[in-house]
Amino acid sequence: MGGVRRVLIVGGGVGGLTAATSFAQRGVDVVLIERQPSFDIPGVGLGQPANALRVYQSLGFLDEILQTGFSYDRMHIFDASRKLIAEHVFLLGDETLPAFCALSRLDLHRILLRAAEQAGVEVRLGVTAAKIQDEPDKVSVQFSNGESDTFDLLAGFDGIRSTTRPHLVGTAFVPRPSGYGAWRVQAPRPDYVRGMEFLQGIGSKTGGMPLNNDLMYVFHIRPEAPDAWFAEKDLPDLFRERLSQYGGYVAEVSASLDANSDIVYSPMEPLLMPWPWHRGRVVIGGDAAHTFPPHLTQGAAMAAEDGYVLAREVLRNDTPLAEGLMRYSRDRYARCAFVYTFSRQWLDDEQSVRTAEQMEVARAELAMNASARIAASDRILNSPI
Ligand SMILES: Cc1cc2nc3c(=O)[nH]c(=O)nc-3n(C[C@H](O)[C@H](O)[C@H](O)COP(=O)(O)OP(=O)(O)OC[C@H]3O[C@@H](n4cnc5c(N)ncnc54)[C@H](O)[C@@H]3O)c2cc1C
Repeated sequence: MGGVRRVLIVGGGVGGLTAATSFAQRGVDVVLIERQPSFDIPGVGLGQPANALRVYQSLGFLDEILQTGFSYDRMHIFDASRKLIAEHVFLLGDETLPAFCALSRLDLHRILLRAAEQAGVEVRLGVTAAKIQDEPDKVSVQFSNGESDTFDLLAGFDGIRSTTRPHLVGTAFVPRPSGYGAWRVQAPRPDYVRGMEFLQGIGSKTGGMPLNNDLMYVFHIRPEAPDAWFAEKDLPDLFRERLSQYGGYVAEVSASLDANSDIVYSPMEPLLMPWPWHRGRVVIGGDAAHTFPPHLTQGAAMAAEDGYVLAREVLRNDTPLAEGLMRYSRDRYARCAFVYTFSRQWLDDEQSVRTAEQMEVARAELAMNASARIAASDRILNSPI
């Protein structure tokens, strides 16, 4: 297994926890450090497509995910008044897997953390890697609590503001503002919302995703100043203003927003690190290596795939570490570059609908081609990793 017996994972998100479980289940001694003193998961949801579910199936906790979340097999594209434009039945999944299962981030995190602990991962909270020294036969780490240790490999799954990434490329590659932002809130699920929905508006897009029998999550994507910052007390009014053109359940959710609504705003800062995603014994994955516009709902899914493929390639029989890491980088870069390109283009296309005339052009185009376009993506993403 390339001499890898002991691994440090930096970051306890979807990517880090999946990587940790994947290594530990294959007999590696794994320490996972997480900067937060306790896990603090924002209360919005995640759609997990079949390619992510396949990873969870391989690691043995798919059933728990399916029992907790809401499975669906199609998406609809509407206009802002929720008049149907197109339906797409996903070509994802197989006889053992639904196309999608969506669940709250908190529920997914609980399941991933339990799986990591059951596999024997040692989780240390409130700790970061203060100093990383990459040497030919080991990587030495000084932790923020003053302790130090050595590992055969350090895998940084430490998110969009990764402090591991600079060990590979300095500050040359950082997420850059796209000029768009995403607003999100949880809301009660009307019975008729049974799959992913996009509502194409003029100058923005909104949508919904079921999370379980009772809850859904409403999102809204629009141009925002690159340095936009909003005070928490202003979020309900600002979100309501932004949703004013939308009808159907979006209008109801909008009317219900108040100081108790758990509204989350995030700027969109896409990033695709050129490969290789490693240097010596330090490697990155998940949002540390790539962040996408959320259109294909593949960010956490790609992070989970990264974690799984990293362990598999590094531990392949008799493979020198450098070769395993290169295979990981090559395969993951190609797949993530597809998600990055497809979702960026979708973002740009939808956000360029700025007038009523452009909306009519988009309506006709989406009715004619949207399903075929998403089917092409499904075929790629449903292929084995
Ligand atoms: C609006 C929106 C909607 C989305 N919807 C979906 C969706 O439906 N489906 C989907 O698959 N993805 C979705 N995503 C993407 C998804 O949220 C991310 O891609 C995913 O969470 C990335 O996981 P990660 O483990 O790489 O990073 P993170 O989840 O960011 O985890 C990184 C962890 O590392 C910790 N950390 C950071 N620095 C350090 C350090 N120095 N030392 C120790 N720990 C550290 C952090 O505290 C954090 O816990 C969406 C994203 C957005 C913005």
